[in-house]
Amino acid sequence: MQLPQPMRRARSRRQFLGSFGKGSLAMAVLTPAVLAACSSDASDDTAAGTTAGSDDPTTTASSSSDSAETTAGEETTDETTADAGDDALRWARAELGFVSAYVLARGNTAAIYDTGVDGSADAIGQSLSDLGLTYNDVAHVVLSHHHGDHAGSIQEVMNRSVNATVYAGEADISSINFDTITSVTGGEDVFGFEMVATPGHTAGHMAVIDNDAGLLLAGDAIFTDGGAAIEGPERFFEDVPLSRESIQTMGALSYNTLLVGHGDPIEGGASDVVAALAASF
Ligand SMILES: [Zn+2]
Repeated sequence: MQLPQPMRRARSRRQFLGSFGKGSLAMAVLTPAVLAACSSDASDDTAAGTTAGSDDPTTTASSSSDSAETTAGEETTDETTADAGDDALRWARAELGFVSAYVLARGNTAAIYDTGVDGSADAIGQSLSDLGLTYNDVAHVVLSHHHGDHAGSIQEVMNRSVNATVYAGEADISSINFDTITSVTGGEDVFGFEMVATPGHTAGHMAVIDNDAGLLLAGDAIFTDGGAAIEGPERFFEDVPLSRESIQTMGALSYNTLLVGHGDPIEGGASDVVAALAASF
């Protein structure tokens, strides 16, 4: 496929696949006291204490995909199945106040795109639960860039995602507070997503696209507002002209759905919306 790549791609991937400790699962367990408090009657399915996406560490991830769809709270509202079939891409949005992270699933395997601000692991876990999965099913964590509202919970998320590899753009890795990161520079395939180098917001910013499902996750390289694609506030961008080149790169791709860090998803005709922004420069 022809993908314009704004950055050089010749550099070989550096692998930092170290021996991240397994078995350090930090998931809290239900104590007898909590159980007594919130489920004295097993038939009461309105039990308090299991508010979706709250900071309550007793919120448990369900492996049942049958009931998950109806239990999403306000912080995990969007979930979609792109196609029928076991390996069809599914996604869920973890709304973390002013920023969003995303869970992507195929069958029983998940990837996480961005980890939000500090303290977001429970809400992301709820999004996994909404897709019928748990942190044990997470194989990949891709960070769009190094800013604290996107990579803030990486350690917390990785304490729970004991089977996962972390990826980030090469130029941003040194600014991310996590030791074991696989460097990407654009063009690599991770979990059926092609890494799309989108520098400008930061030098190593990385969008990802599933060309088959027609889904682009753009991180902070694109913001959305009222169904339009917009540029983020200039003061948050390292290099605005380079960012515009990246928006033109993304405007030249083809996808129906756009998921961003700041703003609501655009579902349907999304690449035309981004192309319109790119054409305005
Ligand atoms: Zn940012």
